[in-house]
Amino acid sequence: MKSIFLKRGKDESLRRFHPWIFSGAIQRMSEEPEEGEKVMVFTSENEYIATGHFQIGSIMVRVLSFDNETIDQSFYERRLATAKDVRRCIGVMDGDNNTYRLVHGEGDNLPGLVIDIYGNTAVMQAHSVGMHLDRQIIAQALKAVMGDDILNIFYKSEATLPFKAELGQENGFLLGGDTDDVAMENGLKFHVDWLKGQKTGFFVDQRDNRSLLEQYSKGRKVLNMFCYTGGFSFYAMRGGAELVHSVDSSQKAIDLTKANVELNFPNDKRHEAYAEDAFKFMEKMQTPYDLIILDPPAFAKHKDALRNALKGYTRLNRKAFEKIQPGGILFTFSCSQAVNKDQFRSAVFTAAAQAGRNVRILHQLHQPADHPINIYHPEGEYLKGLVLYVE
Ligand code: SAH
Repeated sequence: MKSIFLKRGKDESLRRFHPWIFSGAIQRMSEEPEEGEKVMVFTSENEYIATGHFQIGSIMVRVLSFDNETIDQSFYERRLATAKDVRRCIGVMDGDNNTYRLVHGEGDNLPGLVIDIYGNTAVMQAHSVGMHLDRQIIAQALKAVMGDDILNIFYKSEATLPFKAELGQENGFLLGGDTDDVAMENGLKFHVDWLKGQKTGFFVDQRDNRSLLEQYSKGRKVLNMFCYTGGFSFYAMRGGAELVHSVDSSQKAIDLTKANVELNFPNDKRHEAYAEDAFKFMEKMQTPYDLIILDPPAFAKHKDALRNALKGYTRLNRKAFEKIQPGGILFTFSCSQAVNKDQFRSAVFTAAAQAGRNVRILHQLHQPADHPINIYHPEGEYLKGLVLYVE
């Protein structure tokens, strides 16, 4: 294995188990590794400190282990077995739920790897070249750990790998292929589009927040803005909403939402869906909504886009505050990793003040337990939300 030597003092974050090594920390390399190759990392004093995947870019090494161990199928089996045990503890693998995240990158000490489970199909996503190159042994390890619970493994990394690496990767099955495309979250069914859907096909990170929404839905007129596959909509319907309107700018998302609502509530006239831009829709809407969900895409993908993103959250939430009925409930989210909890809250605070509404925070929401945050890697925290009572 090729070796990387750090500059003096640059081992400090690694001693605190932070799993990334930035290019500026590297003094020299025994020989330039290929992208995705496993490397051993040493301090300026030639002391072993970590093993990881090498990649060209600002994060040059993603650490797989701080113990001097071989990264082979058995290594992945050990990591996956722990990940599975965590999900068993949380309780997402039982009863009427078969949709959950099994591996959440750094949160499960597997930087660059995401695995979501939908029934007996696993959807695997590599965000680093190293994980891409290891995909076959990871698939074998996954099968070994999950046994007959997993019959299909779909690999979906076309959009998540650095295109400059020119890997020519294609989405496709690494195992099986004969899938049932209907999965279940807390007893509600939905179609999953492995091939074309965003992320791994469904946003599994809103499960707990959707359950909370269900409890608030009885008798309410609900607007689910940025509905994508309609998750919040069918929970609201089960919660006894009087009507539910789903909006997304993508016609495909609207078709998915309609199909998913139909799957759970056939011929239910309470639901309608509109393919429209959020701002345009909110500007002219007439329905007196008293429960609004705002779950927009990440406004800031990078730190430099932060200011504009915060303005975007303020503008969006202001519209909702202006339109929501007295006594209304607003579920508002940000999934931008670059926007922290306090920044998001202050953007919403500004929106409330601009609209001149009296607003109470009822709940502060975050990502669910199957998207764990490695305590040494606070960057893993991304989803935040507020549930507000608007007087
Ligand atoms: N709430 C969803 C996830 C939302 S993802 C869930 O629970 O699964 C964000 C969605 O916003 C995407 O479906 C995207 O098509 C939609 N979107 C992006 N820009 C938009 C805009 N300007 N107006 C309306 N929808 C938009």
